[in-house]
Amino acid sequence: MIHLRDAWRDILARRWALAPSLAPYGELLARWAAYAPPAQGLSWSAERCRETWGRGVPLAAEARPPLDAAHLEDLLGDAMEAVAALDPARAPALQRLAGAWDAGALGPQALLPRREGIGDGSIEAASRLDAAAVAFLAYATLRPVLEAWLAPTRPHFADAHWGRGVCPFCGAPPGFVDVIEGGHRRLACHFCGGAWSFAKLRCPLCGVEGTTDLQRLQAEGEDAGYVIAGCRACHAYVKELDRRERWNGGPPLLEDWGSPHLDVVARREGLLKPLPALLDLAAR
Ligand SMILES: [Zn+2]
Ligand SMILES: [Zn+2]
Repeated sequence: MIHLRDAWRDILARRWALAPSLAPYGELLARWAAYAPPAQGLSWSAERCRETWGRGVPLAAEARPPLDAAHLEDLLGDAMEAVAALDPARAPALQRLAGAWDAGALGPQALLPRREGIGDGSIEAASRLDAAAVAFLAYATLRPVLEAWLAPTRPHFADAHWGRGVCPFCGAPPGFVDVIEGGHRRLACHFCGGAWSFAKLRCPLCGVEGTTDLQRLQAEGEDAGYVIAGCRACHAYVKELDRRERWNGGPPLLEDWGSPHLDVVARREGLLKPLPALLDLAAR
């Protein structure tokens, strides 16, 4: 998590004009860096991981992540404070969430990505918080623990077969896209830091194929290399960075956080981001 803090400093230097509005992310990264994950990583063998991927199942759907409510409380609390500071209108819902968490009616399992989306709906039901805020709170709370827990399985993915649009490690939808050598697309996961390659002309969110439904908005000038990759079929988008053009770019999560002005453009086009960043929650 230390590497994210250092990389964030570089992004802030590049995005100095946006630095004041990006400040809450620095606080979040400081909390992540201070978090001590459980010592035990997922110890599945390469064979077991590949067999699971071969069935199209993300690892976290079958191996239970070590989530402890007391251990994660500070991470969730800080993320909730960041949301409340950005939009006080969400404060009553956040208070209901805190109450349900303290009473043990909700736990960290409710934040995990699932086949139907982020979480199991119990947070929305208990707090009446909107799904976008829940999705942000979910990865802002789980990222440090999932990244550390899944680390031992990363090498096993090297030549695994995976054609799905969700993260093979934790099952979350993609948060950002890197375009790498040969023009290949690599999707990045905000929940666990995983990455996986994906077809160029297919929407990772709804699976529609071909160029007809692609809506690509290319940034220009000092943002050359950034693209809003949208889909006319499902109206979702993810931001994309061409790493061949932008070799000094930061980690995908931070590139997503560091370019809120591109999200404004995407929203104006009527597109929605499957995994909102904190600043995306300001617009609704
Ligand atoms: Zn993941
Ligand atoms: Zn789509």
